[in-house]
Amino acid sequence: MEVMSSNFIHTFIDEDIAEGGAYYGRKVHTRFPPEPNGYLHIGHAKAIFVNFGTAQKYNGLCNLRMDDTNPTKEDVEYVDAIKEDISWLGFDWDDRFYFASDYFDQMYDYAVELIKKGLAYVCELNGEQMREYRGDLSTPAKSPYRDRPVEESLDLFKRMREGEFEDGKMTLRARIDLASGNFNMRDPVLYRINHMHHHRTGDKWCIYPMYDFAHPIEDAIEGITHSLCTLEFEAHRPLYDWVVENISAPSKPRQIEFARLGINNTVMSKRKLRQLVEENYVDGWDDPRMPTIRGLRRRGYTPASIRSFTDQIGVSKVNSTVEYGFLEHCLRDDLNENAARAMAVLDPIKLVITNYPEGKTEEFEVENHPNHPEMGTRKVSFSRELYIESTDFMEEPIKKYQRLYPGNEVRIKSAYIVKCTGCEKDENGKVTTVYAEYDPETRGGNTPDGRKVRGTIHWVNAEDCVDAEVRLYDNLFTVSDPDGEDGDFTDYLNPDSLKILKNCKLETSLKNSEKTDRFQFMRQGYFCIDTKDSAPEKLVFNRAVNLRDSFKKK
Ligand code: ATP
Ligand code: MG
Repeated sequence: MEVMSSNFIHTFIDEDIAEGGAYYGRKVHTRFPPEPNGYLHIGHAKAIFVNFGTAQKYNGLCNLRMDDTNPTKEDVEYVDAIKEDISWLGFDWDDRFYFASDYFDQMYDYAVELIKKGLAYVCELNGEQMREYRGDLSTPAKSPYRDRPVEESLDLFKRMREGEFEDGKMTLRARIDLASGNFNMRDPVLYRINHMHHHRTGDKWCIYPMYDFAHPIEDAIEGITHSLCTLEFEAHRPLYDWVVENISAPSKPRQIEFARLGINNTVMSKRKLRQLVEENYVDGWDDPRMPTIRGLRRRGYTPASIRSFTDQIGVSKVNSTVEYGFLEHCLRDDLNENAARAMAVLDPIKLVITNYPEGKTEEFEVENHPNHPEMGTRKVSFSRELYIESTDFMEEPIKKYQRLYPGNEVRIKSAYIVKCTGCEKDENGKVTTVYAEYDPETRGGNTPDGRKVRGTIHWVNAEDCVDAEVRLYDNLFTVSDPDGEDGDFTDYLNPDSLKILKNCKLETSLKNSEKTDRFQFMRQGYFCIDTKDSAPEKLVFNRAVNLRDSFKKK
C-alpha cells in the first residue's frame, strides 16, 4: 500500500521516538475508536487513514476499539459493519479488536484510586445546580461536597455502583481546579449514574464513565503511544494528561489533535445521516448519494481512490471544508487508469445503415483500455441497425455541431464512417430513427483517402445489446453547507439528486459483468453494477462519476 504523506503529527512522533524522546525504543501504537452508533462516513475514513496509515508508516500497530462507554446509543448491527468497512478500505487490526466496555472494571478501580488519593469525590449537585455553580472566567466554580472525607466518597461511590441511587442523584468528580481558565478542568464529572442496559455488559453496571475519563484509560491499558483525535478534543487534552498522570496506568499515551474533514453539499454527522435513513430520504445507509463508506462503495468508489483522497487533503490543525469535486477527482484518477472501456447508450434512438446488408453481422476487436494492452481486447458486433445517443443527431444542427445531421459524416467508433441521410419522426415530431449510409472503405473507422471526419460517436448493436437501468446521481443537497442554513438541513435536499434511466442499451459484453467491475462508458463517465438492485435478468448500473474534471485545470 502507498505510504502516507508526512504531516505535523509525524514530526511530533519523530521527536518522541528519537533518543531521549518519551517513546524512545517503543513501537508506535495508535488506535481507531469509533462509537458503534452508526455507519462510518468519509470523515471517519480520514481518521482511519490517519491512525492506521501513521502506524504503517512507522512499522507500528493500530488497534480497532469500539468506544461503547455510552449505553444509550450503541447497536450491535453497527459493530460488524464498521469492521467490514475498515477492511474494505484496506486496513487491518490483526487480533487487536477491543471494546472500551471490557475495561469497565479497571476504570472503576482507577476511579477508586483517585478517590483514595484525594483526587476525586462524590458530588451531590444535580445537573442544574452544577451549571449554576460552574462560575465564569472571573468566578471559580464551587461544590459543597469537594472536601468531604475520602471514606465517605469511597462509600458513596460503592453504593452508586450497587444501584442505591437514581439517575442524576450524584456524580463522581475529579478534584482538580475550580478556578481553571479551562472549564474542562473545573472538577469534571468522571462517572454518572445511568440505570441502563448495555449491549455488552448487560445490567452489570448502573454507573458509566465519562468519555474524558474513559478514553485516556483505554489508551493507557492498550499501550497506545499516540492517541490521534480530532480538534474538538484539544481543550480536553489537559484533562487527558491529568488522568494518565494520576492513575497507576501501565503507560502514558500522548494525545495529538488534527482537523476534522468536512465536505460541501453534504452532512457528515452520524445523527443526521441516520435521520436521512430513518425518514426515508435515502435508500438506506448504503444509498449511493450518502457520504458513508457503504454509500461511496455502492456508488463505485474504490478503496484506493478514498485512500488517495484522504492522503491528498492532508492533515492539519485548521478545520476546513473540502470540495466534493475533489473526492470525485480522486476517483476519476483511479478509474481512468484502471477501468475497462465499454459502450453504453443511455437515451437511445435507432440508427439504420441503409446500404449495409440485412442479416449481416461483423465483429470488431477493440481494446479494453487505450493505454493498457495488458487489459486485453473484446469483440464488439456490428450490424445494419444500431442504437445511438439521441443527442448525437440533430436534424437542424446548431453551430459547431459535428455529430449526425443530414449530409454530415461521422465516425461510428471503431467501426465505419457513415454519412447521415435523414430521419423519421413520430406524430409528435420526435425523432425515432436516423438513417445513414456507410463507406465500406473505412473499416475500423479509418479514412484511406485521409479525409477529415470530426465527430466520433459511440453506439451498440441493436441485435445483441443488453437492456439496463442506469442511475445518475447529483449532490444530495443543493447548498454548500446544509447545516449552516436556516431551518432544518432536510429542507435543502436536492430533489434531482437521483435520475433513473430505464431504457438504456449496453454492449453485449457487459451482460456478464462482475459486481466489482467498474467501467468507463465512453463519453459518459464511470459506472459500476448496483450491488443491491442489479440482477442478471435486470441489470442496474450506477454512475460513479462523470468524465468532466473541474480539478484538472486548477
Ligand atoms: P459523528 O458526529 O459523525 O458521530 P463522532 O466523532 O461522534 O462523529 P466517532 O464514532 O466517535 O464519531 O468517531 C470515531 C473517530 O473518528 C473519532 O476519533 C473522531 O474524531 C473521528 N472522526 C469522526 N468524524 C470525523 C471527521 N469528519 N473527520 C475526521 N475524523 C473524524
Ligand atoms: Mg461520537
